[in-house]
Amino acid sequence: MKEAMERSLSDLVIARVGFGIVVLDRAMNVLMWNRFMQDHSGHAAEQVVGKSIFASFPELPRVWLTRKIESVFRLGSFAFSSWEQRPYLFKFDHDRPITCGVDVMQQDCTFMPLTRGGEVMAVCVTVSDVTHVRVMQRESEEVVARLEGYANRDCITGIANRRFFEARLRDEFLRWQRYGGELSVLLFDIDRFKDINDRYGHAVGDAVLRVTAQRVANAVRVQDTLGRFGGDEFALLLPCTSLADAMIVAERVRSTIGDVPVEANGVRVRVTASVGGAAARPGLPAYEVLINEADATLYSAKRKGRNRSVVLA
Ligand code: GH3
Ligand code: MG
Repeated sequence: MKEAMERSLSDLVIARVGFGIVVLDRAMNVLMWNRFMQDHSGHAAEQVVGKSIFASFPELPRVWLTRKIESVFRLGSFAFSSWEQRPYLFKFDHDRPITCGVDVMQQDCTFMPLTRGGEVMAVCVTVSDVTHVRVMQRESEEVVARLEGYANRDCITGIANRRFFEARLRDEFLRWQRYGGELSVLLFDIDRFKDINDRYGHAVGDAVLRVTAQRVANAVRVQDTLGRFGGDEFALLLPCTSLADAMIVAERVRSTIGDVPVEANGVRVRVTASVGGAAARPGLPAYEVLINEADATLYSAKRKGRNRSVVLA
């Protein structure tokens, strides 16, 4: 009587638990199939029990699953499979909104030996729905990516900020030191930007910065990195570019900024820029020297009357 009661209780528990229970024999035949498995697969226990699991679920990873079950029979110890290695064993829908970005129920599985008299009689596979963990991980990855974007971008122009630009330059410089080749840097600065601000206001000044960044970004290669160095000063990293080619780019930058006046907040602003540049040469000890040299040439372009480009000869 007590035993019958216990059995009916354990049947109830097995039916109601919030994870899947599948018991398999050594020939991969199903001995038990609980309610969770029935609800999620659409296959009732009567259809599945007594048959090979692969007869009902031909899409299962046959080689992997057979090897896993066999190892539990042989060693008599637990095995585990995490969603991070294998996102799911059974292809089930989950009950999260479809907008969560995960299309199949993510599953952690345990493989538990059912032993009697020291011998493994069967293996109990439990299937836990861990979709929420995957969804949370996706969300935090998205947040990190967004924060990284904010940390690397200049908020007015949307191009690289100085920190990110310097990190890119350092990487390219190390590559150049190791493998050689060409590497150039241009610095450019809007001429008399203070006057633009004073005359038209800061909103127009900001628009000039945005349009300048946009025009230059459209005039260079995707492999180049354009950054705002601060105030009205910008920097352009030109990998695999010689000094002579950097000079051509410098003139292109100057003309793309200055050829057509900027229209902002109903006013037309004539904008010009001065450009300085330098290229890496053997013996250059650090990328900072390249920036200092470009800065010095930019300064000499300003001194020579502005709206011109000068590169280190
Ligand atoms: P030069 O031809 O020698 O470069 O003269 P300049 O007036 O452009 O140079 P200066 O460095 O004196 O002025 C830069 C100005 O940029 C001063 C500052 O008020 C302005 N500025 C810096 N950051 C911003 C910004 O984010 N928005 C706006 N609108 N102005 C800025
Ligand atoms: Mg300026």
